[in-house]
Amino acid sequence: MFIDTHIATLWAMREQERTFTSRSEKGHVDLPRAQEADLLCGFFTGFPTESHFITEKMLAEWLRWTRDPENKLVRIRNFKDLERLEERRKSQRQSEKEIGAVLCLEGAAGIDSELNLLEIYYEIGLRSMGLTWNEENQFATGQAQGNGRGLTAEGRNLVARMEELGIIVDVSHLNDTSFWNLMDIVTKPVIASHSNVRELANHPRNLTKEMVEAIHSTGGTIGINFYKGFLETDPEKADINSIIRMFEAVINIADTKTAHIGADLDGCTLPPDLKDITDVPKVLDKVKEELSLTNQDMERIRTGNVKRVMRQVWE
Ligand SMILES: [Zn+2]
Repeated sequence: MFIDTHIATLWAMREQERTFTSRSEKGHVDLPRAQEADLLCGFFTGFPTESHFITEKMLAEWLRWTRDPENKLVRIRNFKDLERLEERRKSQRQSEKEIGAVLCLEGAAGIDSELNLLEIYYEIGLRSMGLTWNEENQFATGQAQGNGRGLTAEGRNLVARMEELGIIVDVSHLNDTSFWNLMDIVTKPVIASHSNVRELANHPRNLTKEMVEAIHSTGGTIGINFYKGFLETDPEKADINSIIRMFEAVINIADTKTAHIGADLDGCTLPPDLKDITDVPKVLDKVKEELSLTNQDMERIRTGNVKRVMRQVWE
């Protein structure tokens, strides 16, 4: 069982003209494959939210998708929801398994500076959000814009209100200046929902050693991204071993309380030796074996680290 903090299936299903309920050869995640992989809960994002029109469209799609009982998705809005799901899962056979779904946004550009929409989206169930995708917006600056500008005054207000309400702050996609501005003001654990380590794969979407340490110091955790372009500086060299090395790097810089799965399934190109979500158990087994981790370490990486952040931020 595991939690993944960044899955882009909603977007991929539309692009690839497939449904969630039937097993497809396309993309990385559908219900049968999530059940086979034993996914407990996903942070299911729609698509980058560069305007409020896109945000509203995505939220409506997400609500329709998670309301349809055939999809066997369970909205996770508080820690109790997850505990109840985990309890039910113990007696569910593979084809009966329900999958937890956390509503998250990849970027806050669709939210007004007065934060009126934030209040509404929280009520709908928003529980995790990045401040930007790759763009610059009213709150912060994404990694594709260089490091000139960081967090704005509106961005500081947004972060404070997210922490008050209980919405996890996601640092993936921020530029370096925004990241460090954010670190100066956060009082709760943050996550990098889908980011790797820059020393191993030199890309501005990845985190420096100092950033990994800073996330660790908040009590947060880093979702290791399976996108081949963030696994190796030369993406053609990426394979399952690159993923193991990313886990190793985070564990060496911080500890086993600071890493989990944030594979960017249905939003990325996987290394050629991985097919889809059904390969995640194989990755986790290899992490345990090659890094000589204990069952307790693995319990943290599979679910425990994200659960800790959920509990501390949501409650
Ligand atoms: Zn992303």
